[in-house]
Amino acid sequence: MRIIKISAFRVELPLHEGSYKWSGGNSVTVFDSTVVKVETDAGITGYGEVCPLGSSYLAAYAAGARAGLAELAPQLIGANPTELGALNRKMDHAMRGHPYVKSAIDMACWDILGKVTGQPVVTLLGGRHGEDFPLYRAISQDTPANMAGNVAGYRAEGYTKFQLKVGGDPDTDIERIHAVAAKLNRGDVLIADANTGWRQHEAVRIAHAVRDVDVYIEQPCMSYEECLAVRRHTDRPFVLDEVIDDLHMVLRGVADQAMDVINLKISKVGGLTKARQIRDLCVSLGIAMTIEDTWGGDIITAAIAHLAHSTPPELLFTATDFNSYVTVSIAEGAPQRKNGRLAASSRPGLGIEPRPEVLGPAVLTAS
Ligand code: MG
Repeated sequence: MRIIKISAFRVELPLHEGSYKWSGGNSVTVFDSTVVKVETDAGITGYGEVCPLGSSYLAAYAAGARAGLAELAPQLIGANPTELGALNRKMDHAMRGHPYVKSAIDMACWDILGKVTGQPVVTLLGGRHGEDFPLYRAISQDTPANMAGNVAGYRAEGYTKFQLKVGGDPDTDIERIHAVAAKLNRGDVLIADANTGWRQHEAVRIAHAVRDVDVYIEQPCMSYEECLAVRRHTDRPFVLDEVIDDLHMVLRGVADQAMDVINLKISKVGGLTKARQIRDLCVSLGIAMTIEDTWGGDIITAAIAHLAHSTPPELLFTATDFNSYVTVSIAEGAPQRKNGRLAASSRPGLGIEPRPEVLGPAVLTAS
């Protein structure tokens, strides 16, 4: 089987809540997502998606995804999409770095492999654990009172894990954590995600100020070294996200005992193939994971579901249903949140069928 054509489509994904705000005054109102379509000489087509969290979150941006695809896609014509290892090696040889550019192609080729074998991707990734898995709800940065006020509504949707967007003024962040913690029920999980927004001294101070709160601290500072210093000053459970962008960083973090949990984002590490490698290593090492992506719509949510559902539940900390945050559905068949939980599709491949009327005309084509 050979790839004969790769196309990309640009879709806008507005948010039900109008905007999403996180550390450093960053916000997004409409997500700019890119859907990739990979066609083969066997008549089987696969789909992937990549959606950076704006331009200031990681070293990734939406137009960059498409510029990278325009560069990379022509070099993949003729490649076998079902040989994921060989395909990833070819992509890494053709383009150094830029993992997010490769992610949607890799995802689309998993979709093809599933369709060729008649199996859902969750089966190919190791098999389903249980009926479904738990999600978290990100609480967009706002005043402490407003963030605390959002908990009840999200709990009514079934969520019991809440990730606060902090990483702002330290005193306000301490208030945010305390205000939301006061709204929690037994069994709820609270994560304070600073998204690199604190200086080291601020993070040490904040971690100390919330030492009596049952809260996880996520990615307090920009660099790995700063995060490690904070980790060594606090006994709160610790999540690393932005700095864990490849297998080497996982190994380094494990050697330093730098974290209890990692946040594994599919596009941050270059696709499902590499995310699975990191996932399997973390399972063996006992490192729990939040499994998600930077953002996305129905296709990314489907891919998250396949990877998360094939992860042993004791090491799946939580995952994200991005398609419930956005107002536009780009594909039929995507998993839908039920009582704060999600399940991977049983249909072959990713189990989704894009809506052509939403995707519109291709913005780039290689054949
Ligand atoms: Mg995070």
